[in-house]
Amino acid sequence: MTPRKYDPVVYKTPTGSVLNCKGWVQEAALRMLLNNLDPEVAERPDDLIVYGGRGKAARNFESLDLIIKALKDIEEDETLLIQSGKPVGILTTHKDAPRVLLSNSQLVPKWATWEHFTELEKKGLMMYGQMTAGSWIYIGSQGIVQGTYETFAALADKHFNGSLKGTLSVTAGLGGMGGAQPLAVTMCDGVSLIAEVEEWRIDKRLETKYLDVKYTGIDEAIDRAVEARANKETISIGVLCNAVHLLQRLIDRNIQVDVLTDQTSAHDPLIGYVPHTLLNEEANALREKDPQQYIALSYDSMKLHVELMLELQKRGAITFDYGNNLRARAQEHGLKNAFDFPGFVPAYIRPLFCEGKGPFRWAALSGDPADIAVTDKVITELFPENKSLQRWMKMAKEKIAFQGLPARICWLGQGEREKAGLAFNELVRTGKVKAPIVIGRDHLDTGSVASPNRETESMLDGSDAVADWPVLNALVNTAGGASWVSLHHGGGVGMGYSIHAGMVIVADGTDDAAKRLSRVLRNDPGMGVIRHADAGYDIALDTLRKNGLSIQERLK
Ligand code: NAD
Repeated sequence: MTPRKYDPVVYKTPTGSVLNCKGWVQEAALRMLLNNLDPEVAERPDDLIVYGGRGKAARNFESLDLIIKALKDIEEDETLLIQSGKPVGILTTHKDAPRVLLSNSQLVPKWATWEHFTELEKKGLMMYGQMTAGSWIYIGSQGIVQGTYETFAALADKHFNGSLKGTLSVTAGLGGMGGAQPLAVTMCDGVSLIAEVEEWRIDKRLETKYLDVKYTGIDEAIDRAVEARANKETISIGVLCNAVHLLQRLIDRNIQVDVLTDQTSAHDPLIGYVPHTLLNEEANALREKDPQQYIALSYDSMKLHVELMLELQKRGAITFDYGNNLRARAQEHGLKNAFDFPGFVPAYIRPLFCEGKGPFRWAALSGDPADIAVTDKVITELFPENKSLQRWMKMAKEKIAFQGLPARICWLGQGEREKAGLAFNELVRTGKVKAPIVIGRDHLDTGSVASPNRETESMLDGSDAVADWPVLNALVNTAGGASWVSLHHGGGVGMGYSIHAGMVIVADGTDDAAKRLSRVLRNDPGMGVIRHADAGYDIALDTLRKNGLSIQERLK
């Protein structure tokens, strides 16, 4: 039997204000699932892969077809259950309960390895959900642009007086997430030089204007980057090569690098990372023929990769890990000082998490970009005092091309998310937008993830690996009435390294939705504030008190 492929007609995302399902919440789930797989959005729709190595939206095409059928069928007091990308049941709940509950890639801790997962995946028993792939709220690279921008902006504030002008940032990986890097550095006025082994990925980022130019020769690319830095230009340069080869060449030529990171899919040594000792075609062949040998080469390469990063750090580059678990891979392979450079969360993002700030995103179910323009205006007017938000919104409108359903993202904190959600519901109720708005977030957020090498690295109280928090987060969002809730394992950093939860909520203009929005958009970031306050962070303790979230105050 020939393997099935993505069919753009059958799986086209519905738009407009006519329902295909029995309610807007089910309709939103249907549209966002199909939007995840839209070729403009997904990295490899033929394999149902959305982003992040092998992060999928459904286990296989049979499951996809069945999920679509189920979403069209379920009533407003029923809930569809998804087990690692496969629909397994429809149960009676009630109108304020989630319409879909998803659990993806969960393994009992002792079995939580890629080896065991891959075995199960081959038998058709599991699927890797990454973060927003398996929870149907990926919106293309824009989703990560804001987070990446926040990181580079915080780095610029900390080390370069607020701007990357006249600096060179070197990184690798132009995939679903990594593709946001060039644009984020450009937004901070710097020069970026990015290695990528697959030419089509570079071309895709050029098409969406996330990247400015492509080079196929390493030396030419380096020359252009050095010249641009000297001229204080703002430009992003993609170079077709392995990250290891680029870093080695920068060292050989004694080029000073200002900022250094990496976003290859190092979390997955088999499907995600390409060893520097293999050409692409060789890598594809070996992956099939001898996965063990492939993984061994990957580990060799990742160890060298981190050694080169440490060398450039020694030579003055501000170096950080960008959430792909590269350091752990190198350490697993014997590099003792792999963690000598920090992860991006403790280095730049945690103070934001302490205020309940995180990646709030929304999409216009109408499919009409004009609806996003209306929401952009509302957000800009709601938070005039938030200067970095104002700057982001201006640049996002100018520089970000929509992929799939028109969508927007911005980082909002405790109190702000609830305010925004209710304002959107009002836009739908008063007909200022043409269809409901769906609101969600990445799992990379303040209260929704335990990931000791990333979001919860170096917690003040040493609670990095405590995973009760994301579980509570999924439970509280279910209790509060989110539209769909997911609990995943292994996203971002790979099997055994993370547990995280997602939530999505629909603003359909009804009074019931307003109540649900108010609860969920207060509780969800609130979990993050509580989690960070419990770990002892002063900013979180302050946010906790200001927002009436303190259990001590409550029970006094
Ligand atoms: P992806 O699989 O879509 O893209 C990875 C890219 O790296 C691919 O284009 C691949 O060709 C390229 N690549 C692989 N090995 C390479 C090498 N040695 N040299 C040069 N290029 C190479 O993954 P993605 O969605 O872009 O995510 C990248 C990584 O970042 C993942 O590990 C992911 O878990 C992690 N991540 C980071 C964040 C964050 O906020 N920083 C968030 C989510 C995920």
